[in-house]
Amino acid sequence: MEFELSEDQKLIKDAARQFTEKRLIPGRTERDEKEELEPEIYRELGELGYFGMIYPEKYGGMELDELTYITALEEIARGDAGLTICMSVHNSLAGQAILQYGKESIKEKYLPKMASGEWIGAYCLSEPEAGSDAANIKTTAVREGDYYLLNGTKSFVTSGGIAGIYIIFCSTDREKRSHGISAFAVERDTPGLTLGAKEKKLGIKTSDTREIILDDCRVPAENLLGEENKGFSIALSILEHGRIGVAAQAVGIAQAAFEEAVAYSKERKQFGQPICNFQAIQFKLADMATRINAARLLLYKAAWLKSKGEGCRFEASMAKLYASETANWVADQAVQILGGYGYMKEYPVERLFRDARVTEIYEGTSEVQRIVISRTILQP
Ligand SMILES: Cc1cc2nc3c(=O)[nH]c(=O)nc-3n(C[C@H](O)[C@H](O)[C@H](O)COP(=O)(O)OP(=O)(O)OC[C@H]3O[C@@H](n4cnc5c(N)ncnc54)[C@H](O)[C@@H]3O)c2cc1C
Repeated sequence: MEFELSEDQKLIKDAARQFTEKRLIPGRTERDEKEELEPEIYRELGELGYFGMIYPEKYGGMELDELTYITALEEIARGDAGLTICMSVHNSLAGQAILQYGKESIKEKYLPKMASGEWIGAYCLSEPEAGSDAANIKTTAVREGDYYLLNGTKSFVTSGGIAGIYIIFCSTDREKRSHGISAFAVERDTPGLTLGAKEKKLGIKTSDTREIILDDCRVPAENLLGEENKGFSIALSILEHGRIGVAAQAVGIAQAAFEEAVAYSKERKQFGQPICNFQAIQFKLADMATRINAARLLLYKAAWLKSKGEGCRFEASMAKLYASETANWVADQAVQILGGYGYMKEYPVERLFRDARVTEIYEGTSEVQRIVISRTILQP
């Protein structure tokens, strides 16, 4: 068993850490307040190859292994968790859907634009009445000659307002529920696709989340991903990948909160000494570090399996469940260590506490992850 990252993996992780220190940590409070990220940051990340980390070189990507990509996401999440979910949805969900299920013409058309960051990818499964029960989607796709006509509303779409390409799941046979769903790659400028208003959120405010409305949206049949009515298994297999990305985001948030708490505990003096001299604080720090390490090990194990091309639904769900609950717990402890200052926007732990919350909700809630894990345990 090998617990060391390779030299190449360390280089990429260090580069992502440097980018975070230089470009994301300065100005993070203002970005959270403005609820947006400067376009230059997306452009720079695109030029550095971060939007094509796991895409094959033939489509303009860096063709890195999953573990390398995950360590970079973790570092970016230390500085901006909103940007991290954009990158994860783009690389792990939208890009993989096209790469694994798109026709060659579609891959050649879209992947180079996505790898360069010119087109950000979005993933549209959830609907107003279909969240955890994703098979209940009502958006329809009806074939008309060489096109499909899409109608319906997709909710909570990450990068909804900035994406160039949307992976949209539609019902092609309502009666068959999960066996009647199909997936499409839809360009932003397709007539009939409109954007809803940007959602106001508790955290990850730099991420653009909004509804996507489809009104007789005419999509070429060539843009069908995989086979008709086989889209639900595409959604699930892609989500397995995305959950590793969310776990990386959660570990990065937890690490940032931990680092803030350690630094503060050494500076803050009460009763004539730094608060890190108190055993109550020391034990909190010990528990935080232990849980973060445990979460990181689960994350790296899932990413390692993915790198080897093995199925990892069980491990991805465990990593996502544990890392997201760790992020929330660690951020909460960090607020406690900072006392009243932890509750103030002036200190980053206030934002990290809010940013952590969503990691237990999207790409399958903690309850859904427990369902996936227990089903695997109990399967005959
Ligand atoms: C910021 C943000 C970004 C998002 N980005 C995207 C995106 O890019 N694309 C996309 O498709 N979706 C996205 N989502 C949607 C997200 O995946 C859903 O919110 C999530 O799957 C939960 O669905 P829901 O909100 O409808 O909650 P519900 O499914 O209504 O669940 C409500 C509660 O009931 C529980 N519950 C439901 N069913 C069960 C059950 N069988 N057993 C036990 N408990 C259950 C849930 O765990 C939860 O606690 C995003 C959400 C947010 C908040």
